[in-house]
Amino acid sequence: MKIIFDTKIAQSYKSNSQKIRVLSESWVDNEIFCPNCGCNVSSYENSRPVADFYCSSCKEDYELKSKKNGMGKKILDGAYKTMIERLQSANNPNFFFLNYDIKNYEVLNFVVIPKHFFVPEIIIKRNQGIKDRPSYIMCSIDLTRIPKSGKIFYIKNKKIESKEKVLKNWSKTLFLRKSKKAELKGWILDIMKCIDRLEKNEFTIDEMYSFENLLSQKYTNNKHIKDKIRQQLQFLRDKNYLKFTGKGKYKLI
Ligand SMILES: [Zn+2]
Repeated sequence: MKIIFDTKIAQSYKSNSQKIRVLSESWVDNEIFCPNCGCNVSSYENSRPVADFYCSSCKEDYELKSKKNGMGKKILDGAYKTMIERLQSANNPNFFFLNYDIKNYEVLNFVVIPKHFFVPEIIIKRNQGIKDRPSYIMCSIDLTRIPKSGKIFYIKNKKIESKEKVLKNWSKTLFLRKSKKAELKGWILDIMKCIDRLEKNEFTIDEMYSFENLLSQKYTNNKHIKDKIRQQLQFLRDKNYLKFTGKGKYKLI
C-alpha cells in the first residue's frame, strides 16, 4: 500500500478543494480494499447522493470524508436533518475517513467506520446554519462517541495494518447489524464504550459495575443497571467479542 498521493493526476486543477478531491478519491480507488470481503473498491462514476465507493463483489457502499493534518475529534458533514434520516434508511453507507498531511500529500490515517455504528447520538448539530439560510443546520460526526471497535484503522499514524487484521476487525462487530431495536443497540454500544474506558484487555465485573452511576443517568427508567451490564457482557461473549475467563473476569478477543 502506497501512502503518498499521486500528485501528477491533479496538476490541471486550480482549486485546492478540487485537487484534494481528485487525489484522495484516486488514492482510495487504487489502494483500498473492501473491509467486508477484501476485494478492491470502485468509485461511482457519477457522484451518488449518499456514497462515493462500492464493492462490486459484496455490494457494500462507502462514503469518503477527508481532512487535512490532525485527525481531530469531529468530522464535519452535511445537513443534520438529512444525516438523521439517512441513519434510518437501508442504504446508509459505511464511512471512510482519510486524514492527510497537506505539506507532502501523505496519508496519516485511514479509517473505516461501519454503518452499524451510526446512531443519532454520534451526530452533533453545528450551531450556525449557512449564510442566507440560517435554519439550515449542518452536523458533524463525533468520533469520541464511537467505541474503539467501530474505528477500524487501515493506516494509523502512517503505520499500515495488515489486511487480515482489517478484515478480522470488521467481521468482529457485524452482529450489530442484527440489532434493530435502538435501545438494545444503545446498550451494547454503551457497554463497549465502558470497556474502552477501562483501557485494558482483561477486566472484572466489579470494574464494569463502576459505571453503574454513569449508565443510570442515561437509562433513568432502568432500576437494574448491574443486571443489564452482566446481560450485555454475556451477549458480547455469545458474539465472540469477549470471553469469560472465570470468577467475574473477562477478556477481549
Ligand atoms: Zn466487498
